[in-house]
Amino acid sequence: MELQEILKSLCSIQDPSAAVVTLALDVSKARNRVLDRLGSEELPAAAREILRGVSGRISRYLETQLRPETEGLFLVAGPGLWQPFALGVPVQDFIHVGRTPYLAPLLEALTRMPRAYVLRFDQQEGILDEVLMGARKEIERLSSAVVERNAQHQMSSHTTLQAGSARSATRMGGGGRDRFQHCVEDAVEAMLHKAADRVLALQQEAPSESIYAFGDRKHFPFFRDRLPAGLRSQAIHVGPVPHRHEELLDKSIREQQASRLRNRIDGEILEFQARRAEQCHVASGPEEILRHLDTGKVARVFLDPGDPLTGTKCAACGARAGAGKEKCEACGSSLAATSMTQEVLSHVLLHPPVPLTFVPRGESWLEESGGMAALLSEKGIHSRR
Ligand SMILES: [Zn+2]
Repeated sequence: MELQEILKSLCSIQDPSAAVVTLALDVSKARNRVLDRLGSEELPAAAREILRGVSGRISRYLETQLRPETEGLFLVAGPGLWQPFALGVPVQDFIHVGRTPYLAPLLEALTRMPRAYVLRFDQQEGILDEVLMGARKEIERLSSAVVERNAQHQMSSHTTLQAGSARSATRMGGGGRDRFQHCVEDAVEAMLHKAADRVLALQQEAPSESIYAFGDRKHFPFFRDRLPAGLRSQAIHVGPVPHRHEELLDKSIREQQASRLRNRIDGEILEFQARRAEQCHVASGPEEILRHLDTGKVARVFLDPGDPLTGTKCAACGARAGAGKEKCEACGSSLAATSMTQEVLSHVLLHPPVPLTFVPRGESWLEESGGMAALLSEKGIHSRR
């Protein structure tokens, strides 16, 4: 099943016994202590009981299924339910027990591992990789004509040496070297053009936010300038190919992705604050935002993935209310505890998508906005289906 489909199906789970466990685990910490960490949390007795029920399976999963490159584990478990996600980025330990899965830590982690295309090149070849879910995998090797010409060149200079005097061989060899250098430049240019065309095709199939190139700076423009104008700004020359240590490559890609994401979040927060200063098309708090989501007026939601924002929901009519209420105002049925953050995320995943900004912990402006904020569109452009 596609990731998006899995997320949607998780959003529609409603367990009346409230025994759905959502875990985010930093698996880089000592693995055998993971379950101690779970048990020691300040959880209600009922939640601890549910955790004990799944702890054996979690231990076995950690011991036998986890790949070495996994840094974080996200897991939804419950009655008839077992959905792990191995993550290539670290996550903070987090536990949620309730009637529904709590997907915010997973969605936040996914924003830190967007798809990217990576080109490594030298004079001989270009290698195209795709980075997805934090893992890099080779797609294609494009060899340049340099390798062939190099062989021809060596043969022809060998013949020259045998045929003429030492002096004329040197002179001729010099001219040959110039010609050879031209051939090399042409071959590298042709290969990088081929790489750019291939990346364009990949982008059309599965768009990515960025294209990272490793190789010499001098030849990089052959690649970048071949891309259509709209893609050129995404192509970033990161540096030379780290030949000895492959993991340095992955590290630089991760750093590039992290700094791009940070800049984007900073920009989105600045835009929100400017709009709020003018009291212009903003909403605060989950209840107000959910009302606007229902009418399709929300352009972007800002939330803290580590804060589930407890509220209540009517099991009969689906109406939501603040925490601590017992009876539904609309139909009089009893209300059950729910995470308002998850209510918003379900809406975003199940209806036409609304962009999200995951705000880092401890931003006081978000707390002042009731833990969640939104930019509203001037018109209701996202009409509800
Ligand atoms: Zn109701």
